[in-house]
Amino acid sequence: MGSGEKNRWGLYGKGLLVLSLFTRTGVLALLCFLAFSSEFANLKMGYNNARLVELSSGRPMRVAYEWTESFLSLFGEPEEVVRTSGGMTWSIRVLGVPFTDPIAALSLLARHHKWTWSIALGLIVPLTIAFLFGRVFCAYVCPASLAFFVTSRIRGLLEKFFYFPDFRLHHGVAWGVLAGGLVVMLFYGHGIWTLILPYFAMGQTIFQAIAFGTLSVAAASLGLFLLLDVLLGKQFTCRYLCPTGRLLGWIGRRQKITIRRDAAHCLDSCRSCTDVCPLSVNPKVDETRDCSVCGECVTICPTQCLSIGREQK
Ligand code: SF4
Ligand code: SF4
Ligand code: SF4
Repeated sequence: MGSGEKNRWGLYGKGLLVLSLFTRTGVLALLCFLAFSSEFANLKMGYNNARLVELSSGRPMRVAYEWTESFLSLFGEPEEVVRTSGGMTWSIRVLGVPFTDPIAALSLLARHHKWTWSIALGLIVPLTIAFLFGRVFCAYVCPASLAFFVTSRIRGLLEKFFYFPDFRLHHGVAWGVLAGGLVVMLFYGHGIWTLILPYFAMGQTIFQAIAFGTLSVAAASLGLFLLLDVLLGKQFTCRYLCPTGRLLGWIGRRQKITIRRDAAHCLDSCRSCTDVCPLSVNPKVDETRDCSVCGECVTICPTQCLSIGREQK
């Protein structure tokens, strides 16, 4: 790898990091928007007509109503999008392309013993992405990982003054969480996932707070995940507990696009990439399973011998 190319990868790494922060913030903003849109759903149900909305609530409300309707139509039938995405988005269409959460699909299969075509079709894109790029959902979509990203920075700051252990668990623990979640779901219904999956816990917390002005029980679950991250290890929840991350990591265990190392320029005394990786991936020894292609290690490598591309054979 020439020095010009090396410098380029440093920039690409920073670019990916910025992009991942940007896209996750976008998803977070969308969750907030959907929660605010519950008023739109009421108007739609009550009037279903922009002119009537203006007569009853004034011109600004009509503009907001029309704008909300056209924005939500990017994701499907507007009223249904708001109704079915209240903090727990099992499946959504983006510009006509269906996306289904794989855990939601498993949950539906376990409870109702049948799949619909729409669920099966909705799995095609997320599973293909996971197969090719691994856990990119974690770095570019999951809004909870944004909170964990911030928490890991807070933990890093606190570590300058206090000692925090770095607990490690077997990766199989998350499979246990998935199996346990499915069993509990059979008794208590699908809503249990708002306590188990961090991104549902976050979505539910936001939705309840904005739409109803109340604190959901999922907020306690989210708080617990954040606390675990601070006390037990950077992104502890994502590394060891979240079933979605484990499932996507397993699907993408031979991901085609991942982190690559130029061994000739790697320093024996260095382990920066391993230390910085939020998901415990170890690029130093060419272990790439669970990589979310977030770019953090590329940014920090002192010799810039890391890059992103097709898996090394
Ligand atoms: S492991 Fe789970 S909570 Fe963490 S980023 Fe991935 S999907 Fe989100
Ligand atoms: S190895 Fe870790 S830090 Fe590097 S891109 Fe993959 S997930 Fe990010
Ligand atoms: S950060 Fe770069 S130089 Fe350091 S161990 Fe990782 S690949 Fe090697």
